[in-house]
Amino acid sequence: MIEIKNLTKKYGKITAVDRLNLSVDRGEIFGFIGPNGAGKTTTISMMAGLLAPTSGSIKVCGIDMLLHPRLAKQKIGYIPDRPYIYEKLTAMEFLKFTADMFKMDSRNFETRAEAELIRFSLIDWADELIESFSHGMKQRLIMCAALIHDPEVVVVDEPMVGLDPSAIRMVRLLLKELAASGTTVFMSTHTLYIAQDLCDQIGVIHKGRLIARGTVEELKQRARVEKADLEQVFMILIENGELRIES
Ligand code: ATP
Repeated sequence: MIEIKNLTKKYGKITAVDRLNLSVDRGEIFGFIGPNGAGKTTTISMMAGLLAPTSGSIKVCGIDMLLHPRLAKQKIGYIPDRPYIYEKLTAMEFLKFTADMFKMDSRNFETRAEAELIRFSLIDWADELIESFSHGMKQRLIMCAALIHDPEVVVVDEPMVGLDPSAIRMVRLLLKELAASGTTVFMSTHTLYIAQDLCDQIGVIHKGRLIARGTVEELKQRARVEKADLEQVFMILIENGELRIES
């Protein structure tokens, strides 16, 4: 569902993402972890079609993001780490604006908008201005908007930041539910206990390069530790950054 080949992004002299190779299967939750400045947001921005790679390719559901960006973006629901919303709109107006971008017909829109607002406990706020929403409510509205066109792939940058424990629980359940129904989830996170709990596969990025990839158990073997949590494994892998996988 996601296929990344030799993906590279340079900002002047800085190589933020360096020949990244990755593939993620249908219904899989892939966790992308790495220290600050490792290249996670840059990778996700390229996957969401917001940033052009310097070289390399990204395919979503077999569609090349560079050759057919509109078609590829139809397949993706993108949840950014910082919600940018025009707050003078109501929740429903914002969803309508998003649906129009995806060229959804209005009958389909009404059904989908109501279902998503119910799922995210925002139905009673549908006609309220977004400026009256808390951070968590805005984040939930962003999720509604990302799912409105029923995407096959969901790309999430730091889904848990700024959320209270019940919202975190809700997002965890949502991601599991999406994966169980066949949606592919690619998420970057610093919340390693959640990555350990949720992700089928984990990729560790360091200085723009993928240094390890596998299940938590496989990463433990790679770090040569048996009884450790993902946080300890992460620290070992980052300290031994030369343990690169073939790419
Ligand atoms: P964090 O965990 O702190 O969010 P990250 O893994 O998401 O970090 P990126 O934001 O992708 O990392 O940054 C990767 C590298 O690219 C960093 O060295 C960063 O300073 C650099 N970088 C990111 N955006 C730009 C930009 N617009 N111009 C120049 N350099 C940038």
